[in-house]
Amino acid sequence: MSSDPQLCSLCPKMCRFACPVAEGSADEGATPTAMMQAWELAKDGQLPWEDAAEAFSKCTGCEACRAPCEYDQDVPAMLYAARAEAWEKGAVPAQSRAMQQRYLDSGTPFCIDNDAVLREHCAPEDFQRKGRVLYWPGCRSVAEQPSTVAATMRVLRALGADHVSLPARKDLPGCCGAPLRAVGDQTGLQVAAAGLQQYFNRQRTWVSPDPGCLHTVREGYPGAGTEINAEVLHLAEYLLFFEQRLRELGKQACAVVESGGEPWPAFVVHDACALSRRLGRGEPVRRVVEALTGVEPGCWGASPDRTQCCGAGDFHDLRRPEAAARVAASARPDLPADAWVITGDPGCRASLEATAGGARVMDVAGFLEAWLGPVVA
Ligand code: SF4
Ligand code: SF4
Repeated sequence: MSSDPQLCSLCPKMCRFACPVAEGSADEGATPTAMMQAWELAKDGQLPWEDAAEAFSKCTGCEACRAPCEYDQDVPAMLYAARAEAWEKGAVPAQSRAMQQRYLDSGTPFCIDNDAVLREHCAPEDFQRKGRVLYWPGCRSVAEQPSTVAATMRVLRALGADHVSLPARKDLPGCCGAPLRAVGDQTGLQVAAAGLQQYFNRQRTWVSPDPGCLHTVREGYPGAGTEINAEVLHLAEYLLFFEQRLRELGKQACAVVESGGEPWPAFVVHDACALSRRLGRGEPVRRVVEALTGVEPGCWGASPDRTQCCGAGDFHDLRRPEAAARVAASARPDLPADAWVITGDPGCRASLEATAGGARVMDVAGFLEAWLGPVVA
């Protein structure tokens, strides 16, 4: 991949129609060309950094612009650098600043006491100081669906993964620093990474359902000077280590549905941009759904490669909620009314739900809870 802002600023917007923000919110200022031109103008002193920072914020990090790009440009990476430069100059959009302030006040952008919420919902055995595999739910999952975190731990134990632990130390930050990276607070990210490095490196494996956390730890931490040695996996990848047991539990769940005479849902996978395009790890989500149901799931987008952005990537839903909602509204495919939509990113769940009509929307952890709940006490 290349990261040359000038290529974008001189480009005749070859990726214009691939960009969900430019398309969904009808904003010509959201194209990579416009954003990189803003960066160059700000550097030349021809545009106030405050205006440039507003321009840089119009990206979900979805990488949809990569496929039509002849130069394989990494637009999200360039925008992290652009936002960091704007941040250094004190130019930060108001909602990005507010998100960072919530992080400073509570340790997460969701104003929760992460550890207290986890301990309220999860069992004492979910916190093992000597666990070799860390399950890092991510602060969004803790804030939005804490009972699902508890259900995931029950499923992991039922699979035989009883050496998995939630963060057991009460003094640990509950957030990996991804929201700081998204707004350009590079110093804040460095502090967050340094604070978690030792703890993360004590684990053999680090597992999360949240590709935003995954990308931050894999790519953002090294960029901030912090290396993580633990194996870093998405929840779906980790579940496949237990595929045979997963299939056994899945058969039991299928039997429960059949014996209850309940309608069989139409399973649809939303290939989340952060997991599928940015990390290239989307396929395990489909394999988990197939292992648990015996059914090949359908696809939210035209194909797994041409997935649709929900508008929430890189905390765009918190930084620019109105624009994010317009992107989500434009991402709605024709879904069967009885669809269960399974996304690889808990950050997409609420945005997809708002646009999915009557369909149920869940992330991988939510799918474990919904499908295996009746067979895993
Ligand atoms: S990402 Fe590629 S196609 Fe899009 S503006 Fe930049 S150079 Fe052009
Ligand atoms: S990464 Fe996605 S949102 Fe950002 S410019 Fe590219 S297509 Fe648009």
